[in-house]
Amino acid sequence: MHSGITNPIDFSLDGRQAGNVTIPFSIDRSPYYQIRVPILRLKNGEGPRVLLMAGNHGDEYEGELHLGRLMRLLDVSKLHGAVTILPLANLPAVMAAKRCSPFDGGNLNRAFPGDPTGTPTARLAYFLEEQLFPAHDVVFDLHAGGTSMAHLPCTLVERQGDAARFERSVELMRAMGASHAFIADNGPAAPTSMGAAARAGAIGLSGEFGGGGTVTPQTMAFAAAAIDRLLIALGVLETPVLSRIPVPAPGALQLLSLSRHSQGIYAERRGWFEPAVALGATVAAGDLAGWYHDLERLDQTEESLRFAEGGIVISHRLHCDSQAGDCLIQVAEPISG
Ligand SMILES: [Zn+2]
Repeated sequence: MHSGITNPIDFSLDGRQAGNVTIPFSIDRSPYYQIRVPILRLKNGEGPRVLLMAGNHGDEYEGELHLGRLMRLLDVSKLHGAVTILPLANLPAVMAAKRCSPFDGGNLNRAFPGDPTGTPTARLAYFLEEQLFPAHDVVFDLHAGGTSMAHLPCTLVERQGDAARFERSVELMRAMGASHAFIADNGPAAPTSMGAAARAGAIGLSGEFGGGGTVTPQTMAFAAAAIDRLLIALGVLETPVLSRIPVPAPGALQLLSLSRHSQGIYAERRGWFEPAVALGATVAAGDLAGWYHDLERLDQTEESLRFAEGGIVISHRLHCDSQAGDCLIQVAEPISG
């Protein structure tokens, strides 16, 4: 079925092709409006075919800024193989500085495999899984914690595909050089880009490169090194393009597991959260995680929140003001392997 999406790229052609993937969406201001998602394709002979994407969630910026920069810097004559860059995937969400699209509320990373007759986010997911991802060997989708969350910078893969493909994905994740990494178990039907990449026959790689709806010199350097190292490890590039400092060889990698509800602390009512520990801290079960204040009942002592499980603190909520159901803080379990 046709999704109404137009794709300007011919994946068989060598050289540079730039344009927009367009998603028709009729709105009050513009009956024949098109959502225009920028895309760049560079191909130089045979070799690995890599898709670099960001803006899956609009308010996660390391990938968006770096992939925009990479579009300007990458020289097709220096490549071996093909690189496709989609820096602002869910464009309406990026332009609204939101996680989800303001047109349909769509969270692209929960929308796969998509729907060719659905909302713009559903049609985009369908196009990615059915057309764009299958034209690539590797899909690298860059994420961060978003406006409401601080996240320990880490790389990430899902346990997907056959053993050989999963092993290769872990090998490439190690090559990206993070000090922490996740292996997520979301199952073959996962509504995520990593699930979609697996169903499309590609190796999926991801990461949480920062958070808070902003970037820092440290998170940008980490993301630059990860992109450069991946392209070099695949043999697509010989030298780094984005890193401003020489990229050192990857150091030791701590693998992490996040698989149980009990690894997080969730708000049970309206309140104001004060964390007691920093990202990356090692904690034990029973340790103080933070305090939960009630600004509407100032006579009440703030509640002490304690971890149910030990591990490494990997994320916490940034907005103090919280409601029942909000995840306040999470610990991941260090694993070997
Ligand atoms: Zn994200």
